[in-house]
Amino acid sequence: MHLPNQIAVVTGATSGIGKAIAALFYAEGASVVLIGTQEEKAKAALEEMAPLKKTESQKLLFKLLDVADTSAVEQAFSAIYQELGQVDILVNSAGITRDNFLFRISEEDWDRVLAVNLKAVFNTCRQVYRPMMKKRKGKIINISSVIGLTGNAGQANYAASKAGMIALTKSLALELARKNVCVNAIAPGFIQTQMTEVLPDEIKKGILAKIPFERYGTPEEVARLALFLASDASNYITGQVINVDGGMVML
Ligand code: NAD
Repeated sequence: MHLPNQIAVVTGATSGIGKAIAALFYAEGASVVLIGTQEEKAKAALEEMAPLKKTESQKLLFKLLDVADTSAVEQAFSAIYQELGQVDILVNSAGITRDNFLFRISEEDWDRVLAVNLKAVFNTCRQVYRPMMKKRKGKIINISSVIGLTGNAGQANYAASKAGMIALTKSLALELARKNVCVNAIAPGFIQTQMTEVLPDEIKKGILAKIPFERYGTPEEVARLALFLASDASNYITGQVINVDGGMVML
């Protein structure tokens, strides 16, 4: 087990990358709090993950929560600290797209994407900031995107949010380094989840042509990097952005 006695909170954990991360962390001995907005999916995810339990003391919980809602996040984390005592690992995987060319992006779609993808990271990180500092230990992992590094036509709101996430990650890494807290970002390329499933075939084909590995990635392949970043194996790594993209973006 790589995460014995650890307590992890994973946002966006009822599907896709967040769910794969939550499942792998649970299978590696951590107690895991799944955060999401979809109760039905959460039920199914909890049932699916239950058999992965390794020790009697491990807990697996779900909190129904819109991570963009600052006061709801405060309340949820206060409940998590009361129930579980600590948070050792925070993974921000909740995210949305509202794609369009910039002149067609409504103010509402701009604000919502920035709120769910970026402000939410501010919301959750500030809840674990002081406790991790005090403990002089902690791992924060933000799921950004290669789009945050390269930009993308039709995704100005998403790209801005993911680039913001990277800048937040580096700033927070600098703030918390003295206290031994590691803050890193993962930049996935094209991963097969419900987020990418809805893209038109033409677009998918175009993306595939740009991936040197000539295949899409899986949520489990992102989860394995998250496990490394959450474990003691990465204790001297902070402020980094690591791509999981089959070689799609090399800067
Ligand atoms: P997904 O849609 O399966 O997962 C996103 C999850 O976030 C969903 O479970 C959704 O319910 C949840 N969510 C959305 N709004 C929320 C809110 N306000 N509060 C709480 N939860 C909320 O898609 P995914 O591909 O697993 O995406 C996970 C993360 O990875 C996202 O941040 C996404 O931007 C990023 N990402 C995905 C890809 C990809 O190719 N799939 C590539 C790069 C980055």
